[in-house]
Amino acid sequence: MRRKWVGGNWKLNGSRAMASALAGAIVDADIGSTVDVALFPPFPYLREVCAACAGSRIVVGGQDSSQHEAGAFTGEVSAAMLRDVGCATVLAGHSERRQFHQESNELVAAKVAQALAHGLTPVLCVGETLEQHEAGATAAVVGNQLAAVMERCGIAAFGHIVIAYEPVWAIGTGRCATPQQAQDVHALLRSQLARDDATIAGSTRIVYGGSVKPGNAAELFAEADIDGGLIGGAALQATDFVSICAAAG
Ligand code: PEP
Repeated sequence: MRRKWVGGNWKLNGSRAMASALAGAIVDADIGSTVDVALFPPFPYLREVCAACAGSRIVVGGQDSSQHEAGAFTGEVSAAMLRDVGCATVLAGHSERRQFHQESNELVAAKVAQALAHGLTPVLCVGETLEQHEAGATAAVVGNQLAAVMERCGIAAFGHIVIAYEPVWAIGTGRCATPQQAQDVHALLRSQLARDDATIAGSTRIVYGGSVKPGNAAELFAEADIDGGLIGGAALQATDFVSICAAAG
Protein backbone atom coordinates (compact mmCIF):
# COMPACT_ATOMS: atom_id res chain seq x y z
CA MET A 1 0.00 0.00 0.00
CA ARG A 2 1.54 3.29 -1.09
CA ARG A 3 1.26 6.16 1.34
CA LYS A 4 -0.40 9.18 -0.24
CA TRP A 5 1.57 12.36 -0.88
CA VAL A 6 0.24 15.93 -1.24
CA GLY A 7 2.37 18.92 -2.18
CA GLY A 8 1.49 22.61 -2.20
CA ASN A 9 3.23 24.62 -4.92
CA TRP A 10 2.90 28.29 -4.02
CA LYS A 11 4.59 29.44 -7.24
CA LEU A 12 5.36 33.18 -7.42
CA ASN A 13 2.92 34.23 -4.71
CA GLY A 14 2.87 35.64 -1.24
CA SER A 15 4.97 37.62 1.14
CA ARG A 16 7.05 36.78 4.19
CA ALA A 17 4.06 37.35 6.47
CA MET A 18 1.75 35.30 4.26
CA ALA A 19 4.25 32.42 4.05
CA SER A 20 4.53 32.21 7.84
CA ALA A 21 0.79 32.46 8.36
CA LEU A 22 -0.10 29.91 5.68
CA ALA A 23 2.51 27.37 6.80
CA GLY A 24 1.51 27.94 10.43
CA ALA A 25 -2.18 27.35 9.69
CA ILE A 26 -1.39 24.13 7.79
CA VAL A 27 0.84 22.86 10.62
CA ASP A 28 -1.84 23.77 13.19
CA ALA A 29 -4.41 21.73 11.27
CA ASP A 30 -2.44 18.67 12.36
CA ILE A 31 -2.98 16.76 9.13
CA GLY A 32 -3.33 13.02 9.68
CA SER A 33 -0.29 10.82 9.92
CA THR A 34 -1.36 8.73 6.92
CA VAL A 35 -0.40 11.31 4.30
CA ASP A 36 2.99 12.85 3.46
CA VAL A 37 2.73 16.61 2.99
CA ALA A 38 5.26 18.96 1.37
CA LEU A 39 5.18 22.75 0.91
CA PHE A 40 7.01 24.51 -1.92
CA PRO A 41 7.21 28.25 -1.17
CA PRO A 42 9.25 30.78 -3.16
CA PHE A 43 12.98 30.61 -2.27
CA PRO A 44 13.08 33.77 -0.12
CA TYR A 45 10.44 32.34 2.21
CA LEU A 46 12.01 28.93 2.77
CA ARG A 47 13.40 30.10 6.08
CA GLU A 48 9.98 31.13 7.44
CA VAL A 49 8.29 27.99 6.17
CA CYS A 50 11.03 25.67 7.48
CA ALA A 51 10.72 27.38 10.88
CA ALA A 52 6.93 26.98 10.89
CA CYS A 53 7.17 23.29 9.92
CA ALA A 54 9.99 22.39 12.33
CA GLY A 55 8.90 19.57 14.60
CA SER A 56 5.89 18.73 12.41
CA ARG A 57 5.54 15.95 9.83
CA ILE A 58 5.39 18.50 7.00
CA VAL A 59 8.48 18.82 4.83
CA VAL A 60 9.59 21.81 2.79
CA GLY A 61 10.99 21.98 -0.73
CA GLY A 62 12.28 24.29 -3.43
CA GLN A 63 10.29 24.93 -6.60
CA ASP A 64 13.40 24.32 -8.70
CA SER A 65 17.13 23.66 -8.30
CA SER A 66 20.20 23.87 -10.48
CA GLN A 67 21.79 21.00 -12.33
CA HIS A 68 25.13 22.51 -11.28
CA GLU A 69 26.95 21.89 -8.04
CA ALA A 70 28.29 25.45 -7.62
CA GLY A 71 30.03 28.22 -9.50
CA ALA A 72 29.35 31.02 -11.95
CA PHE A 73 25.64 30.46 -12.49
CA THR A 74 24.00 33.73 -11.47
CA GLY A 75 20.45 33.37 -10.25
CA GLU A 76 20.64 29.63 -9.69
CA VAL A 77 19.96 27.83 -6.41
CA SER A 78 21.73 24.53 -5.81
CA ALA A 79 20.40 21.31 -4.35
CA ALA A 80 23.08 21.54 -1.66
CA MET A 81 21.82 25.00 -0.68
CA LEU A 82 18.26 23.72 -0.41
CA ARG A 83 19.47 20.93 1.89
CA ASP A 84 21.50 23.43 3.86
CA VAL A 85 18.43 25.56 4.67
CA GLY A 86 16.33 22.57 5.70
CA CYS A 87 14.61 21.37 2.53
CA ALA A 88 13.90 17.68 2.05
CA THR A 89 12.46 17.84 -1.44
CA VAL A 90 12.40 19.84 -4.69
CA LEU A 91 10.24 20.13 -7.80
CA ALA A 92 11.91 19.22 -11.09
CA GLY A 93 10.58 19.96 -14.54
CA HIS A 94 7.38 21.75 -13.56
CA SER A 95 5.59 22.61 -16.81
CA GLU A 96 6.11 26.32 -16.15
CA ARG A 97 9.88 25.68 -16.06
CA ARG A 98 9.67 23.60 -19.24
CA GLN A 99 7.47 26.19 -20.96
CA PHE A 100 8.93 29.53 -19.84
CA HIS A 101 12.53 28.50 -19.23
CA GLN A 102 12.92 26.03 -22.09
CA GLU A 103 13.88 23.16 -19.79
CA SER A 104 14.46 20.05 -21.89
CA ASN A 105 13.90 16.46 -20.76
CA GLU A 106 17.68 16.07 -20.48
CA LEU A 107 18.08 19.18 -18.34
CA VAL A 108 15.29 18.05 -16.04
CA ALA A 109 16.99 14.66 -15.75
CA ALA A 110 20.25 16.38 -14.78
CA LYS A 111 18.40 18.39 -12.12
CA VAL A 112 16.83 15.22 -10.74
CA ALA A 113 20.26 13.56 -10.59
CA GLN A 114 21.75 16.55 -8.78
CA ALA A 115 18.87 16.67 -6.27
CA LEU A 116 19.25 12.95 -5.56
CA ALA A 117 23.00 13.38 -5.06
CA HIS A 118 22.22 15.82 -2.27
CA GLY A 119 19.61 13.67 -0.56
CA LEU A 120 16.56 15.62 -1.73
CA THR A 121 13.43 13.84 -2.92
CA PRO A 122 12.85 15.12 -6.45
CA VAL A 123 9.25 15.56 -7.54
CA LEU A 124 9.51 14.88 -11.26
CA CYS A 125 6.73 16.73 -13.09
CA VAL A 126 5.56 15.39 -16.44
CA GLY A 127 2.62 16.33 -18.61
CA GLU A 128 1.44 17.15 -22.09
CA THR A 129 0.25 20.47 -23.51
CA LEU A 130 -3.29 20.95 -24.80
CA GLU A 131 -2.03 20.73 -28.38
CA GLN A 132 -0.25 17.44 -27.65
CA HIS A 133 -3.31 16.17 -25.78
CA GLU A 134 -5.58 16.93 -28.70
CA ALA A 135 -3.13 15.34 -31.13
CA GLY A 136 -3.27 12.10 -29.13
CA ALA A 137 0.40 12.44 -28.17
CA THR A 138 0.02 12.20 -24.37
CA ALA A 139 1.56 8.74 -24.00
CA ALA A 140 4.55 9.60 -26.18
CA VAL A 141 5.19 12.95 -24.47
CA VAL A 142 5.02 11.78 -20.86
CA GLY A 143 6.79 8.55 -21.82
CA ASN A 144 9.75 10.51 -23.19
CA GLN A 145 9.82 12.82 -20.18
CA LEU A 146 9.98 9.82 -17.86
CA ALA A 147 12.43 7.90 -20.06
CA ALA A 148 14.99 10.72 -19.91
CA VAL A 149 15.12 10.45 -16.11
CA MET A 150 15.14 6.63 -16.14
CA GLU A 151 18.07 6.73 -18.54
CA ARG A 152 20.04 9.30 -16.59
CA CYS A 153 19.31 8.16 -13.02
CA GLY A 154 18.45 4.46 -13.37
CA ILE A 155 15.38 2.65 -12.14
CA ALA A 156 16.63 2.32 -8.53
CA ALA A 157 16.41 6.12 -8.20
CA PHE A 158 12.64 5.85 -8.44
CA GLY A 159 12.67 4.50 -4.92
CA HIS A 160 13.45 8.13 -3.97
CA ILE A 161 11.45 10.08 -6.57
CA VAL A 162 7.82 11.19 -6.58
CA ILE A 163 6.30 11.55 -10.06
CA ALA A 164 3.67 14.23 -10.63
CA TYR A 165 1.51 13.86 -13.73
CA GLU A 166 0.33 17.37 -14.51
CA PRO A 167 -1.43 17.87 -17.84
CA VAL A 168 -0.53 21.42 -18.84
CA TRP A 169 -4.09 22.06 -20.02
CA ALA A 170 -5.34 21.38 -16.49
CA ILE A 171 -2.90 23.57 -14.56
CA GLY A 172 -4.57 26.72 -13.27
CA THR A 173 -7.38 26.39 -15.80
CA GLY A 174 -10.14 24.91 -13.65
CA ARG A 175 -10.30 22.08 -16.19
CA CYS A 176 -9.29 19.05 -14.15
CA ALA A 177 -8.58 15.74 -15.86
CA THR A 178 -11.29 13.19 -15.14
CA PRO A 179 -10.25 10.52 -12.64
CA GLN A 180 -10.25 8.00 -15.50
CA GLN A 181 -8.10 10.20 -17.77
CA ALA A 182 -5.56 10.68 -15.00
CA GLN A 183 -5.67 7.03 -13.94
CA ASP A 184 -4.95 5.90 -17.52
CA VAL A 185 -1.81 8.04 -17.72
CA HIS A 186 -0.66 7.04 -14.24
CA ALA A 187 -1.05 3.36 -15.15
CA LEU A 188 0.98 3.98 -18.29
CA LEU A 189 3.78 5.65 -16.33
CA ARG A 190 3.79 2.84 -13.79
CA SER A 191 3.97 0.20 -16.50
CA GLN A 192 6.93 2.03 -18.05
CA LEU A 193 8.74 1.80 -14.68
CA ALA A 194 7.66 -1.84 -14.31
CA ARG A 195 9.41 -2.80 -17.53
CA ASP A 196 12.67 -2.11 -15.64
CA ASP A 197 11.63 -3.14 -12.12
CA ALA A 198 8.14 -4.19 -11.07
CA THR A 199 8.83 -3.84 -7.34
CA ILE A 200 10.03 -0.25 -7.64
CA ALA A 201 7.16 0.54 -9.99
CA GLY A 202 4.73 -0.77 -7.39
CA SER A 203 6.09 1.48 -4.66
CA THR A 204 6.73 4.74 -6.60
CA ARG A 205 4.22 7.47 -5.76
CA ILE A 206 2.60 8.95 -8.87
CA VAL A 207 0.51 11.98 -7.95
CA TYR A 208 -1.83 14.09 -10.08
CA GLY A 209 -1.75 17.86 -10.47
CA GLY A 210 -4.00 20.24 -12.37
CA SER A 211 -6.97 22.11 -10.87
CA VAL A 212 -7.31 19.80 -7.86
CA LYS A 213 -9.79 21.34 -5.41
CA PRO A 214 -11.49 20.14 -2.22
CA GLY A 215 -14.49 19.15 -4.34
CA ASN A 216 -12.69 16.82 -6.75
CA ALA A 217 -9.74 15.52 -4.71
CA ALA A 218 -11.39 12.45 -3.17
CA GLU A 219 -12.57 10.97 -6.46
CA LEU A 220 -9.13 11.47 -8.04
CA PHE A 221 -7.30 9.97 -5.06
CA ALA A 222 -9.64 6.95 -5.09
CA GLU A 223 -8.11 5.74 -8.36
CA ALA A 224 -5.74 2.79 -8.04
CA ASP A 225 -2.67 4.54 -9.42
CA ILE A 226 -3.24 8.09 -8.14
CA ASP A 227 -1.18 8.46 -4.99
CA GLY A 228 -2.06 12.02 -4.06
CA GLY A 229 -1.73 15.43 -5.65
CA LEU A 230 0.45 18.40 -6.47
CA ILE A 231 -1.67 21.44 -5.74
CA GLY A 232 -1.22 24.99 -7.05
CA GLY A 233 -4.06 27.50 -6.62
CA ALA A 234 -5.82 25.62 -3.82
CA ALA A 235 -2.55 25.41 -1.87
CA LEU A 236 -2.74 29.15 -1.19
CA GLN A 237 -5.79 28.74 1.09
CA ALA A 238 -5.04 26.76 4.24
CA THR A 239 -8.58 25.40 4.57
CA ASP A 240 -8.67 24.19 0.94
CA PHE A 241 -5.21 22.64 1.13
CA VAL A 242 -5.95 20.94 4.45
CA SER A 243 -9.19 19.54 3.12
CA ILE A 244 -7.35 18.15 0.04
CA CYS A 245 -4.81 16.53 2.39
CA ALA A 246 -7.70 15.06 4.38
CA ALA A 247 -9.12 13.58 1.17
CA ALA A 248 -5.77 11.85 0.65
CA GLY A 249 -5.51 10.64 4.22
C1 PEP B 1 0.64 23.33 -10.22
O1 PEP B 1 1.04 24.46 -10.23
O2 PEP B 1 1.46 22.39 -10.18
C2 PEP B 1 -0.81 23.09 -10.25
C3 PEP B 1 -1.23 21.87 -10.30
O3 PEP B 1 -1.61 24.20 -10.22
P1 PEP B 1 -3.24 24.23 -10.05
O4 PEP B 1 -3.56 23.31 -8.89
O5 PEP B 1 -3.55 25.64 -9.75
O6 PEP B 1 -3.82 23.74 -11.32
